[in-house]
Amino acid sequence: MVRPIRPALLNDRLMLTLPTYLDVAAAAERIAGKAHKTPVMTSRTADEELGAKIFFKCENFQRMGAFKFRGAMNALSQFDDKQRRGGVVAFSSGNHAQAIALSAKLLGMPATIVMPLDAPAVKIAATKGYGGNVVMYDRYTVDREQIGRELAEKHGMTLIPPYDHPHVIAGQGTAVKELIEEVGELDALFVCLGGGGLLAGSALAARQLSPHCKIYGVEPRAGNDGQQSFRSGSIVHIDTPATIADGAQTQHLGQHTFPIIQRDVDDIFTATDTELVACMRFFAERMKMVVEPTGCLAFAAARAMPDMLKGKRVGVIISGGNVDIQRFGQFLTGD
Ligand SMILES: *Cc1c(COP(=O)(O)O)cnc(C)c1O
Repeated sequence: MVRPIRPALLNDRLMLTLPTYLDVAAAAERIAGKAHKTPVMTSRTADEELGAKIFFKCENFQRMGAFKFRGAMNALSQFDDKQRRGGVVAFSSGNHAQAIALSAKLLGMPATIVMPLDAPAVKIAATKGYGGNVVMYDRYTVDREQIGRELAEKHGMTLIPPYDHPHVIAGQGTAVKELIEEVGELDALFVCLGGGGLLAGSALAARQLSPHCKIYGVEPRAGNDGQQSFRSGSIVHIDTPATIADGAQTQHLGQHTFPIIQRDVDDIFTATDTELVACMRFFAERMKMVVEPTGCLAFAAARAMPDMLKGKRVGVIISGGNVDIQRFGQFLTGD
């Protein structure tokens, strides 16, 4: 059932390092007992609205509040002794930072998180709370690639990127593996899309476990580089998009994520900020859940196409729930 990757998309090195379903299965064993097996929730209101059966995989209930713990834990668990001593370095002011800091703490290795000076105070505090050593830099004057190289070279740290890494992709795929193993085969699966780690991993799992399932990625409408890349056949770069979906403000897909998405995903849709807010309200009012704006992307797209989904069994990934509670209130009241 694995469709071949178009050779033009790949060089030999990538061909060797692209993860497969076997890597997702190995990741699931590796993170078992460390990551939560998150609940699958249903809603009669959602089912009636769409005339379909919707299964929400709730990664807002994952450790540190998002699926990113899966990929981070899978990657750090595979460090050798030398790498463990040197520790991990990551660039992030968002969920990846917290995922790396928590995974490193659980595995007893040092973590350095490089954040821009203007990162939100709550995110800095959360990362420090998980034991991460936070290094700040001025994003307008300093090249972060250079900071990374220096830390890696001088201190023997290993850089783990937020999405463009085979172990990260394989770890993220474990959420959909759990979903399909719990509820059975699906007709369609909606997954939010930033750099594509979650979508690529999900596609590996779904293609194997539910071969006829249609797999859809969903991006913010303001930053549809993934859709453009998917349709044009090469990675499109854009400026940082203005959207409330801060987990999907990526500027381009990855070298590892793009070929998997190109091969296994059926289409990529977009959702507007207004649609995301409507979904945040739905999750809060109807399902009593706090979901961050990015976590609403998948359901927002599904909701917009009831005709296509009528009578279908549909998986929807809720990717995370980390939103400042005051901002959350402002989103819901429209302030
Ligand atoms: C990182 C993140 C995404 C996007 O994931 P990618 O693997 O970069 O596509 C979506 N939702 C949340 C909550 C995230 O933290």
